[in-house]
Amino acid sequence: MTKALVIGNWKMNMDYVEAIHLVQQLGVLVRGQTLDHTEVAVAPPFVDLRSVTSVIEADRLPVVVAAQHVHSADAGAFTGEISVAMLKRLGVKYVLVGHSERRSLFGMTDAVVSDTAAAVTQGGMTAVICCGETFEERELDRTTEVLQHQLQIAFSKINTKNCDRVVIAYEPVWAIGSGTAATTEDISLACKAIDSAIPSSWPTKPRILYGGSVNSENCGSIVENSPVDGFLVGGASLKADDFSAIVGITNACYRR
Ligand code: PEP
Repeated sequence: MTKALVIGNWKMNMDYVEAIHLVQQLGVLVRGQTLDHTEVAVAPPFVDLRSVTSVIEADRLPVVVAAQHVHSADAGAFTGEISVAMLKRLGVKYVLVGHSERRSLFGMTDAVVSDTAAAVTQGGMTAVICCGETFEERELDRTTEVLQHQLQIAFSKINTKNCDRVVIAYEPVWAIGSGTAATTEDISLACKAIDSAIPSSWPTKPRILYGGSVNSENCGSIVENSPVDGFLVGGASLKADDFSAIVGITNACYRR
């Protein structure tokens, strides 16, 4: 049976003391639920990773760790960057690749997304490849075309033997942080476009997450009425009780 996945993207929030506090609170709340088919991950800032993984290990919390970004090169003169091996050594399981904020604010191109996804999967971690259309692209009815284009490039360098290390996050740019999530119809159409971009040589189909203004009020309906396998959550992941409610509802509503 496929497990749902709920990832909290903390973005540039939480210093290491706050991060320890948040993961401890979250861990206790999540441990109090019977999560038979949902995996929980948090994506703290790089400087918090060691503290967060230490707390998870010491307290045996049912939470895994994700990173928000990585560089595709093995090592070298890339000031300010972090390598796949560095994250792997810290026990990181998932890496977000090509979040729309990396694309729009830091110039991450489709080609860089492609190199990064290949490096992460080759390095033994799972790439959470983010894709999504802007408001203008949606208005021009270009959502399918945009998703297919982004994903075909993102998948192009991934070795088929690593295809089980891919998760896709559909995050319409207009929905992120806006308070307005996509409808289940929008999400279902996007999932079709995503499916059509998956290489036919891949024996397994990646899980698809939805992200964009997810909260405890809308997550149950989304997971029940569209083919997603969980969520990438931004704002609502910064409060342990909000995020743990999303996790619990996802677990209750996800049946695949
Ligand atoms: C995100 O940035 O990945 C995200 C989904 O943010 P929010 O939940 O705040 O819309």
